[in-house]
Amino acid sequence: MNIYGKTLKELESYFLDIGEKKFKAIQVYDWLYKKRVHSFDEMSNIKKSVIGKLKEDFNIKKISILRVQNGKDVHKYLFSLSDGQKVEAVLMNHDYGNSLCVSTQVGCNMGCVFCESGRLKKVRNLETYEMVLQILMVEEDLGVRISHVVLMGIGEPFDNYDNVMRFIDIINSDYGLAIGARHITVSTCGIVPKIKEFTSERRQVNLAISLHAPNDELRSRLMKINKVYPLKEVIKAVKDYLKENNRKVTFEYIMLKDVNDSDECALELASLLKGMMAYVNLIPYNETSHIEFKKTDRDKIMRFYDILKRNKINVTVRREFGSEVSAACGQLRSNFEEAE
Ligand code: SAH
Repeated sequence: MNIYGKTLKELESYFLDIGEKKFKAIQVYDWLYKKRVHSFDEMSNIKKSVIGKLKEDFNIKKISILRVQNGKDVHKYLFSLSDGQKVEAVLMNHDYGNSLCVSTQVGCNMGCVFCESGRLKKVRNLETYEMVLQILMVEEDLGVRISHVVLMGIGEPFDNYDNVMRFIDIINSDYGLAIGARHITVSTCGIVPKIKEFTSERRQVNLAISLHAPNDELRSRLMKINKVYPLKEVIKAVKDYLKENNRKVTFEYIMLKDVNDSDECALELASLLKGMMAYVNLIPYNETSHIEFKKTDRDKIMRFYDILKRNKINVTVRREFGSEVSAACGQLRSNFEEAE
C-alpha cells in the first residue's frame, strides 16, 4: 500500500486502529505534502515505534520520470509506473497559474475515433497514489507549484470513479496539496450513471463534458459511448447537475475539419444548449496519427464561435498548447512506444 494513496480520513482511521491519536495523520500529511520528504525516517516528530509500524504497512515509493519534452509554456512528462506501464501528464503555464493535465488510466476503453489514447485499450485503472504522484513529481522536477488540475489526460475519470474521487480528496485537502475545488476539473465523455453519482456528492469541483457533436448521428460516429448514453440522456443529466449544484459546466467541442464544424452544426449546438447555464469550449483539434481528421482553420473556428455568441451561448476558444511537443492526449506515449 502506497502512502500517497491514502486520504486524510483513511489515515486517521488507520492511526485509531493501531491505538494512536488521529492527529498523527495530519503530521504525516505535513511531511508528505508540505515538507515533501522522501522517507519515513525523515518524519522527525513521529516516534520510532510508529515509524516502524508505518514502514511495515506502507511504502513511500515514487513513480519515475521516463522522458520530458519542453515547449513554449508546456512541459510534457512520460512516467513509468512500478509495473512498467506508462502514462503522461502535461504542465501548462497560464497567466493565472500552472495547470497540470493528469492521466487516470493506462489506455482507455471509450474508443473515441479521433483520440490517440484509445489506440491502446485500457490496461488498468491508475491507483490513487499514481495520480497524486504525477503532481508531486512535476512540482519537484520544475520547482513550481501547480495551482490547477484538469483530469483530461489518458483515460476516462468516471470509468475509475472511486480512485479519482479519493485523488480529489487528497489534492483538495488543506493538509494535502490544498488545490482549491474550483481549480480542479473532471472531464468525462458522458457516462450518465456516474454523472448522476457525481451530482449527488455535491462537490465544488468543475465538471466538463466532452460533447464534440450536436446530434446523435454524428456523435455516435465519433464517440462509441454515445450509443450507450445518447445525447438526450447526457443533457438531462447535466441539467439535473446544474439544478443541484451551483457550479459551472463546460461542454468541450473539438473542431474537426469538415466533420463537425459547419454553420448547421453551430446552430444545432446552440439550440441543444439553449437556456442552460453552460459554457462551450471550442478546442482546436491537435492532429495525431488519426490522419483522417484535420483541424478546422482558424477563420472557420471563429465563424463557429460567432454563431454561438449570436445565439447567446457562452463560448471560448481554447488556447493551443504543445502541438510542437505532440501534447494531445496519449501522443507522447504512443510515439515513444513506436520508437522502441
Ligand atoms: N475521457 C475524458 C477525459 C480525457 S480526454 C473525456 O473524454 O472527457 C480530454 C479531452 O481531450 C476530451 O474532450 C477529448 O475528447 C479531447 N481530445 C482527445 N484527443 C484530442 C486531440 N487530438 N486534440 C484535441 N482534443 C482531444
